[in-house]
Amino acid sequence: MVIEVSNVKKHYGRLEVLKDISLHVSEGEVLCIIGPSGSGKSTLLRCLNRLEEIQSGSIVIFGEDLVHTKDVNKLRQNIGMVFQSFNLFPHLTVLENMILAPLELKKMKKNEAVEKALDLLDKVGLKDKKNVYPDTLSGGQKQRVAIARALEMNPKIMLFDEPTSALDPEMVGEVLKVMKDLAQDGMTMVVVTHEMNFAKDVADRIIFMDQGYILEEGPPEEIFTAPTSDRCKEFLDKVI
Ligand code: ADP
Ligand code: MG
Repeated sequence: MVIEVSNVKKHYGRLEVLKDISLHVSEGEVLCIIGPSGSGKSTLLRCLNRLEEIQSGSIVIFGEDLVHTKDVNKLRQNIGMVFQSFNLFPHLTVLENMILAPLELKKMKKNEAVEKALDLLDKVGLKDKKNVYPDTLSGGQKQRVAIARALEMNPKIMLFDEPTSALDPEMVGEVLKVMKDLAQDGMTMVVVTHEMNFAKDVADRIIFMDQGYILEEGPPEEIFTAPTSDRCKEFLDKVI
């Protein structure tokens, strides 16, 4: 088991955002999280690499207690995260964006980091963009760089928070393709997404969240054809 979340509760002040969340992800599995806006999906994802603290429950990553670990940075290095908003450094070239973290956090040698970066850029189809600045790239290209940059750290888990939501429709496919390749290569992935076709195709399991609870969990063929809760049915009727 790579990720084990048990009875997690999280609130901001009086607002309860995660009410009693338990889930697990095993190695090589792709878990997609779907659900209406405000249901707690991003918060849950952020808890998984301790960008947010939880009030109760436990989160265990590779057998290590995330909440009480002494070395959260070391644990975090195993977890790559990709956001809706790319978060590339605008004053650095694509290549410089890619090698910054491995040089500083992993003390990787520069030539090694560059070689790996070029390999990854090749994988996402952007090797020829290594020396340009992010603002010259399209949204889809930026997101592919952001994914490659996360992979440069050799993560064992990748978390995606609506990675295609900020993209023009014609660019969604190229990013989903990169994610699909990654899944096929065996990466363990947790993906918050509104791309139901991606979820159907790529997810091993789907979780439907609503108002801080997990209301449904199961393989895509089950969730999409026979959801048991009315809330999930309503949601799927709207988005499909
Ligand atoms: P989702 O990603 O499913 O849209 P979020 O996890 O972003 O949901 O948000 C869940 C709830 O928590 C929402 O009501 C949101 O307004 C609230 N929330 C999120 N982040 C914060 C924060 N930093 N402070 C206070 N409330 C927050
Ligand atoms: Mg969100």
